[in-house]
Amino acid sequence: MHSPDVTAVFNLPDESATEAFGAALAERLSPGLVIYLEGDLGAGKTTLSRALIRALGHTGPVKSPTYALVEVYVISSLYLYHFDFYRFESPEEFLDAGFDEYFNDASVCLVEWPERAQGCVPSPDLQLRLHHARVGRLLEAVANSPKGQACLNALPVPGADSSCVTPAPR
Ligand code: ADP
Ligand code: MG
Repeated sequence: MHSPDVTAVFNLPDESATEAFGAALAERLSPGLVIYLEGDLGAGKTTLSRALIRALGHTGPVKSPTYALVEVYVISSLYLYHFDFYRFESPEEFLDAGFDEYFNDASVCLVEWPERAQGCVPSPDLQLRLHHARVGRLLEAVANSPKGQACLNALPVPGADSSCVTPAPR
């Protein structure tokens, strides 16, 4: 059973399915979007983010932000911030670092380990929860806003089975 808040579920049988999901999502981003990436170490949060950033047209390396806390990409006129708060010891470090300024109408923010900045990091339009599954990974998506829902609408993901488990929120 999935949590009642889940909007859609995707089976990602292998790494390429995770990458296909990230690439498909790249086409649906809009400025101001905040996406949380949740799941254990090794669940695939960075793999998904990397595929998304590459699909946007970034050709250089995409490093995990685990040590730097944030990696910044400027692609055409879009500012994309890829955060990882795994190393935070308290959520207030988010404010101390001035990261709240990165969350604005002109940026897209991808956030790994948002729970480590709980109460300080802005709430998400879209939550992606990755779980280890018997085969590959299971991704539960929760849309919390119309913008977040638009990301999931008719999201074609080659290699992934998907199902809508609850009606779209109004
Ligand atoms: P995280 O950022 O969540 O800690 P990473 O993306 O760094 O995780 O690592 C995920 C690992 O799992 C990588 O080795 C990647 O190849 C693998 N992986 C990603 N997606 C899948 C999948 N759907 N099925 C099996 N392995 C996957
Ligand atoms: Mg990671």
